[in-house]
Amino acid sequence: MPVKNRFAELHADITAWRRDLHENPEILFDTHRTSALVADKLKAFGCDEIVTGIGRTGVVGIIKGKTDTSGKVIGLRADMDALPIHEQTGLEYASKTDGAMHACGHDGHTAMLLGAAQYLAETRNFDGTVVLIFQPAEEGGGGGREMCEDGLMERWGVQEVYGMHNWPGLPTGQFAIRTGPFFAATDQFDIYVEGKGGHAAKPHETVDTTVMSAQLVLALQTIASRNADPVDQVVVSVTSFETSSKAFNVIPQKVHLKGTVRTMSAEMRDLAETRINAIASGIAATFGGVADVDYHRGYPVMANHDAQTEFAAEVARSVSGNCDDAPLVMGGEDFAFMLEERPGAYILVGNGEGASVHHPEYNFNDEAIPAGCSWWAGIVEQRMPAA
Ligand SMILES: [Zn+2]
Ligand SMILES: [Zn+2]
Repeated sequence: MPVKNRFAELHADITAWRRDLHENPEILFDTHRTSALVADKLKAFGCDEIVTGIGRTGVVGIIKGKTDTSGKVIGLRADMDALPIHEQTGLEYASKTDGAMHACGHDGHTAMLLGAAQYLAETRNFDGTVVLIFQPAEEGGGGGREMCEDGLMERWGVQEVYGMHNWPGLPTGQFAIRTGPFFAATDQFDIYVEGKGGHAAKPHETVDTTVMSAQLVLALQTIASRNADPVDQVVVSVTSFETSSKAFNVIPQKVHLKGTVRTMSAEMRDLAETRINAIASGIAATFGGVADVDYHRGYPVMANHDAQTEFAAEVARSVSGNCDDAPLVMGGEDFAFMLEERPGAYILVGNGEGASVHHPEYNFNDEAIPAGCSWWAGIVEQRMPAA
């Protein structure tokens, strides 16, 4: 089964949906237009059940196969949200909303899963049930977690769940996957440093928060270089350094540092949190100040399951001839919450050359649509073969 012929026929339609979504990006949970468009299309395709409002603006569509002797239920998930980025592509279908842009290709993901839904509803050439999952707020809001908390997996008896993301740099329509930890846990921290402000010409009368915080930024790099086992992955990045004074001649009373932590295991995540607390309080004490740390845990590690990964790769090979080994990705992905609840796998589909995701010149590559849709259809037809 290479690319399915039906998707060559539907390619123009799916491209038009994708470009319409691109022109009308919506952020986090505010995917009202997008969710309504998805629900309308699923209805037009003749899905057996459509439920909105799962995980606030999430949409679920059910398609039953010609038979259901297998009792199998497979979830297919796409994300729908855009990013708070000002688009600079110059495309004729560029974002009409200032400060919002489909810069991660979720327009393409939504359109491809809709294309697969149309085909599956037309053909129903499988033995079991498909649960189409369209989630909001992948980019930081935890929409996947909220859909799970609303009972997504239990309500429809989902047994396995699959996800897909486009990948710039990977040849168009080519697939790549890996088993086990794949995308990183993404945490954030605030560090509030306090000393004793004063005149910049009399540093001896102050407790200098700037010097203290500069030492702290450097010391935090020892978590990766001195605390973590060199074969494990951990990133600690301080991304914001804000002092309570903007003057040339004042030593500020307070400094606020912000940053992010990326890890690939629960042990490394715990280590990073423990060490950030210890280093912050230790450095501050050394210089006579204090530091308070607020550590916020975000998305967990997204880990693919062995059997489903092998199956997902097999389907990818049947579509595109082969399937590459994907690298570890230190970005986060809230499909992690779904893979914590059910076995499943997440695959990358090539977006070809061009800007990376989250760049203002990024664009989803419509030429990847037939391969992506064929993979979705293959997951269903090969996992639940027609009786
Ligand atoms: Zn993204
Ligand atoms: Zn994304």
